[in-house]
Amino acid sequence: MTDQPYPSQILQVAIPSPLRSRFDYLPPLGNSGHSAKIGQRIKVPFGPRTVVGIIIGLETRSDIAFEKLRHAYQILDESPALSPQIMALCQWTARYYHHPIGEVFSLALPAKLRQGNDIDEQKQWAWFTTEKGALINETTLKRAKKQQETLELLRQHPNGLSVATLKGLNVSLNTLKALEKKQLAEKKTVELVHHESRGLLKEPELALSEEQSSAVSQILKAAPASTTLLYGVTGSGKTEVYLQLIHQTLKEHKQALVLVPEIGLTPQTLSRFERRFNTPICLIHSGLNESERMQSWRLAQKGEAKIIIGTRSAIFTPMLAPGLIIVDEEHDLSYKQQDGLRYSARDLAVVRGNMDEIPVILGSATPALESMYNVQRQRYQLAELTQRANQAKAPTFQLLDIRQQPLNHGLSEVLVEQIKNHLDRHNQVLIFINRRGFAPVLLCQQCGWTAQCAQCETRYTLHKQPPHLHCHHCNSIKAIPRQCGSCGNTDLRPVGAGTERVEDGLKSLFPDTHLIRVDRDTTQKKHSFKEKLAAIQQGEPLLLLGTQMLAKGHHFPNVTLVAIINADSGFLSADFRGPERMSQLIIQVAGRAGRAEKQGHVILQSHQPDNPALQKLLHDGYKGLSEEILQERIDAELPPFTHAALFRAEALHNEHCHIFLEEVAEILRTNNPDQNQIEILGPVPAPMEKRAGRYRAQLLLQSKVRPPLHQLIQQNMPRIDELKTGRKVRWSLDVDPADFT
Ligand code: ADP
Ligand code: ZN
Ligand code: ZN
Repeated sequence: MTDQPYPSQILQVAIPSPLRSRFDYLPPLGNSGHSAKIGQRIKVPFGPRTVVGIIIGLETRSDIAFEKLRHAYQILDESPALSPQIMALCQWTARYYHHPIGEVFSLALPAKLRQGNDIDEQKQWAWFTTEKGALINETTLKRAKKQQETLELLRQHPNGLSVATLKGLNVSLNTLKALEKKQLAEKKTVELVHHESRGLLKEPELALSEEQSSAVSQILKAAPASTTLLYGVTGSGKTEVYLQLIHQTLKEHKQALVLVPEIGLTPQTLSRFERRFNTPICLIHSGLNESERMQSWRLAQKGEAKIIIGTRSAIFTPMLAPGLIIVDEEHDLSYKQQDGLRYSARDLAVVRGNMDEIPVILGSATPALESMYNVQRQRYQLAELTQRANQAKAPTFQLLDIRQQPLNHGLSEVLVEQIKNHLDRHNQVLIFINRRGFAPVLLCQQCGWTAQCAQCETRYTLHKQPPHLHCHHCNSIKAIPRQCGSCGNTDLRPVGAGTERVEDGLKSLFPDTHLIRVDRDTTQKKHSFKEKLAAIQQGEPLLLLGTQMLAKGHHFPNVTLVAIINADSGFLSADFRGPERMSQLIIQVAGRAGRAEKQGHVILQSHQPDNPALQKLLHDGYKGLSEEILQERIDAELPPFTHAALFRAEALHNEHCHIFLEEVAEILRTNNPDQNQIEILGPVPAPMEKRAGRYRAQLLLQSKVRPPLHQLIQQNMPRIDELKTGRKVRWSLDVDPADFT
């Protein structure tokens, strides 16, 4: 390399590939490169292919000889597709998760832009009422209920509703087309300009409770870049706090980004935002097609969408005028991506808030221990809502010892009696069981053999609707055997209960009561979950049976009894996070009881009523239990007290995983200057050693302080990347792993 500047500008480009390096190019022929800007997309030759990369640096020299450099083909954007803020967030993400920067950009960019499409080719379609539609008497549509509802919705939004938002509200294209045909609605390419004069609010704000209002003012008074844990019991009105904070943000002409765990699971949240504000709201979630995603992304980037509601990856959404980030149900595991770039959207929200100097709100009734620990270390401030809003009282708890009790399809007699009482009083009853299918085990009465998935070495779950065996880990399916696979005996019996079995039991016990079952098997069809939720909202007495899909954030005013069929399962799990997760789940499910005027009651069936964690949860609540668990983690030097990073490997041959991870461990051990700071544990088999036909192993790094851990990984990644044994396995690095399975 010469010290002479090159006779042309050098463009440093990040390319979507597993290679960590950046690549140097000359500007396109006939282009001096002086108009090139960081953040622009650029089309370049890459081996035999043409790819779209991002300009990440402008230099006057390169490590590569000038003659060997290739010319880029074309700079695709006039102004950068990625703003300096998003570039900085992506670069931070790549560094922290030790992930190739090009792949991080791929996550931040909609597919259309990754493919090189023009950033503004996309027309910004929105639907409006026509004049006729605005004036017509709605009753003329009373035989077309969907059309009537949609027209009503369009009337409430004279500035139009984007295609993406309509999709989020579950309005079908057919309905819109039908209205168009009747000349009641039309599709226009007008931009969604927001008319200040109409006011920001569509409905008046609620008068805040004392706790709510001090939370709001505490957050508004805090430093601009502060993170607040909004720790509010279920039903305490966290959403109202969000709404009023967003109102302040909008008043300052800024945008708010709201992350939710899964939009499909909480359609009520979106409609509450829709009901409150006059401003364009855009949605970013996995249900959108690429054009819709592009449209939402662009509206946010141009500052036209004032509120952006999205799931995990929406944390990378650009905003012209960022003002606030909210992460609802911040403890939810769906914020952590479990493959590829294993980032935590909650943690990135905090990073982004710091970079953009805007407040971040993490809301939950059952905060993650990580967040509680950050409050303890004064990294986050704490705002608490200890009481339910709306005069609703906290539910009462009852622990049922079922050790010696006969169970009817998983239900004890006392529980059945209670269910009957609540139904007799015209209330709704929610029965929670965290397991779908009919039974988790199919057992030979003669020899103890159980039906196992050969691919995973775990038990098959027995399903009866339709009858089959299903492996919930690899999704393989098998016919139900007639005979024991070991002794040939034909007396095979289901053991334990899943949703299907409890449903059978409830149906025979309460044949005249309407029953709604909600699990992944009953909600496959589009809209079926929404329809079920709507039926619950009608308020008629009914039995509501389901898995954790029912636990998340729903407001069911008429549910007075919540029964948890098997409250022990998680407390007994091998993962050290088992008790934390199980108690979160119990509190979240319990939180569906008694959210309105009527008192709620919660029954926990347990085979281990003396379990200390369960006892603590019942006596001191989530707060008491989680503080205790946190102290245990500190004493045992486990996360969040220590920082962890996990190398995982999987392969068809078990030894390939171990040989590779041994070599990784060896590299890290020999190059670890801080022997006593960083522990290197393993390699060991993963808790689930075989899944979908592949063997799995892992190597754990732990450190009380973060910087040396990251340094060690960063310095050695190039060596690890070059290991030949790494080509025989699929491997990945998980920084801050959410579990060790
Ligand atoms: P959370 O999200 O904390 O579980 P929600 O935001 O769903 O609780 O609020 C529970 C119920 O209380 C909702 O019906 C909401 O409209 C009502 N609510 C919230 N804040 C107030 C308030 N200040 N006054 C009256 N009702 C309120
Ligand atoms: Zn399997
Ligand atoms: Zn047998």
